[in-house]
Amino acid sequence: MSAPRIVLLGPPGAGKGTQADRLADLYGVPHIATGDILRDNVRAGTALGEKAQQFMEAGELVPDDLVTDMLRDRLADGDARAGFLLDGFPRTVPQAQSLERILDDLDRRLHGVILFEIDDREIIQRITGRRVCDTCAAIFNADDERRQCGRHDDLTVDECEGTLFQRADDTEKVVRNRLEVYERETAPLVDFYRQRGLLRSVDAEGPVDEVTARTTDAVDGLVTAPAGDVP
Ligand code: AMP
Repeated sequence: MSAPRIVLLGPPGAGKGTQADRLADLYGVPHIATGDILRDNVRAGTALGEKAQQFMEAGELVPDDLVTDMLRDRLADGDARAGFLLDGFPRTVPQAQSLERILDDLDRRLHGVILFEIDDREIIQRITGRRVCDTCAAIFNADDERRQCGRHDDLTVDECEGTLFQRADDTEKVVRNRLEVYERETAPLVDFYRQRGLLRSVDAEGPVDEVTARTTDAVDGLVTAPAGDVP
């Protein structure tokens, strides 16, 4: 099976980042999260970070051209040549059209799009309880009560000693705005990709391992489907 080239689509808090981390390990492809790249830029105080910060803190989208240029550069990196898991991009129809052009230029095509389905009440609970590692971006739940990351303990690399923090845009007020922005700007991508025969839905509620199993089934189905086959 070839390395997957997949978009993970779904509202904030649907578990895209958690699942993408797991799938990246399973399939050996990079997890490319535009939100993580933007947060790194904000933290490093780059020109892009300065332009993006106010939009992010308000739960609004960063302008398409900034994010699209950033993604074009990232997809040109060698590690993304064979495959990738895109998390948080595209978020608007113009971004999806840009992605088609970027991949065309690189002579590649998308295998498909996984839509994570979850209801709004569960989302708000999940997001307001989310904590993120400031070093490796791993995602935890506040119930866990730990302050340090400690990830990678099952891998050969050292444990991560990053500190967990709550994202500035993970408060209830900002989350509600992010959900409205999702419905207005991002939900139209469901039809965009369905019309192209590229969309598969996954139930994103329930234990993480079960969601991973459903997601890998969907990814395998998309990667092995003949081009143009409607799932
Ligand atoms: P995320 O980590 O995916 O929830 O993204 C956090 C924030 O980064 C979003 O609320 C936006 O402000 C910004 N962002 C991330 N990806 C994009 C994108 N593809 N287009 C516009 N803004 C984005």
